[in-house]
Amino acid sequence: FAPWNDEAAVPLIQFDGVSKKYGDFLAIDNIDLKIYPREFFALLGPSGCGKTTLMRMLAGFEEASAGKITIDNKDMAGIPPNKRAVNMMFQSYALFPHLNVVDNLAFGLKRSRMAKSEIDGRVEEMLRLVQLQKFAKRKPHQLSGGQRQRVALARALAKAPKLLLLDEPLGALDKKLREETQFELMDIQEKTGTTFVIVTHDQEEAMTVASRIAVMDHGKLVQIDTPDRVYENPNSIYVAGFIGDVNIIEGRVSHLAGEEAQLCWAEGTSDIRGMAGPKIQKGEEAAFAVRPEKVALSVQEPIERNNRVAGRVEDIAYLGNMSTYYVRLENGNLIKSQVANDRRISRRSVTWNDQVWLSWSDTAGIVLPSG
Ligand code: ATP
Repeated sequence: FAPWNDEAAVPLIQFDGVSKKYGDFLAIDNIDLKIYPREFFALLGPSGCGKTTLMRMLAGFEEASAGKITIDNKDMAGIPPNKRAVNMMFQSYALFPHLNVVDNLAFGLKRSRMAKSEIDGRVEEMLRLVQLQKFAKRKPHQLSGGQRQRVALARALAKAPKLLLLDEPLGALDKKLREETQFELMDIQEKTGTTFVIVTHDQEEAMTVASRIAVMDHGKLVQIDTPDRVYENPNSIYVAGFIGDVNIIEGRVSHLAGEEAQLCWAEGTSDIRGMAGPKIQKGEEAAFAVRPEKVALSVQEPIERNNRVAGRVEDIAYLGNMSTYYVRLENGNLIKSQVANDRRISRRSVTWNDQVWLSWSDTAGIVLPSG
C-alpha cells in the first residue's frame, strides 16, 4: 500500500499552495500536500506549528487565505462543514451526557433523516465495530475513558465519512491503554476503509499508526514520508531531532560522492563516513546525525570499523531492557550509545569513568545541512 508512489493514484485530499493568515500572522505557509484514500496520515509537530489549523481547514471551520483545497476532486472553497464528507473527532469526545451509547450513536443519523430501520442497523454495526455491544444502554459517565473514546469514534464514523479527522484522539488515555487503542484504531480504520488524518504530539504514536507522517515546523511541511523514512532518512536536523533521539556532530563536508559523504569534524580524528543527506555541499558546514542505538560501545578498539572514536563514560541511564551510555570525547563532544542489556555481553562491566570506544557503520548515520 503506497499510493503516493503511484503517479496514476488519485488523491482524496489535495492542498495546492495553501496559506492561512490570522491578521499578520502566517499560521500555514504555502503548503502542497496530497493524501490518498485509505491512508492513515499523521501530522506531527511542536505546539503552535499549525496542525490544528490545517485540520480545521479540511473540516471547513477555517477558510484558506490563499491556495486551493480539494476533497474528492471538489474545490472546498465556501463549502460549509456539514456539506463535506468529513467528520472530526475531538479530544474531549463531546458525547451527550444524558444520552446512552445507542442514542449518542443515532443522534447524527436521525438528523440526516435516515429511516429508523436503517439507523438501527447502522448503530448496531458501529457498536460491533468498536466492540461495545454490551454497553449499548450505558450513559457516558458509566463508561471508562477508553470506552468513551470508542463511542466517540463510532459516532464519528456512523455517517460513513470519507475522511475522519482525529485531533489528539488518545490524549486523555494512560500510556498502556493508549498503546492498545492505537492498534484498535488501525484495525477500525482498515475495516471501514475511511481515510484518517490524525494530529498528535506523540511521535511514537505517529510512527505506530501512520502510513505516512508529515512533520511540521512554523506552518510549513518540512518532510512528508513513511515512518521508517522519516526515522532513517530525515531530511533535516530538525526532523532528525523531532523524531526520536539523535546524536549530532557539527563539521564540514570533506568528501561527497553519490550517496556517500564524509564529515571533517575534529583535529586528529578521522573523518566521519555517513550517508549523504539532501542539500549538502563539499566544503560547506554540515552536521552528522546518528541514532544512539546505532552507536556500538566496546572496550577494545574496533579496528574493522571506519567510524570509531575513543571517550570516557560520563553517565549511564539504566532503562531496564537497555541502557544509554553518555560518552565524553576528547574534543568535548558528548555521544550517546544505547545498548541492549542482555547477559551475553560483558559490556555490563563498563562503568562510570571507563575509557571506551564508540563505533558505527558507514551507513548508520546521515550528513545533513547544519541546523
Ligand atoms: P497545538 O499542538 O498546541 O494544538 P497546533 O500545531 O495545533 O498547536 P494551531 O492551533 O494550528 O497549532 O495554531 C498555529 C498558530 O496559529 C499558533 O501560533 C496560534 O497561536 C495561531 N492561531 C491559531 N488560531 C488562531 C486564531 N483564531 N487567531 C489568531 N491566531 C491563531
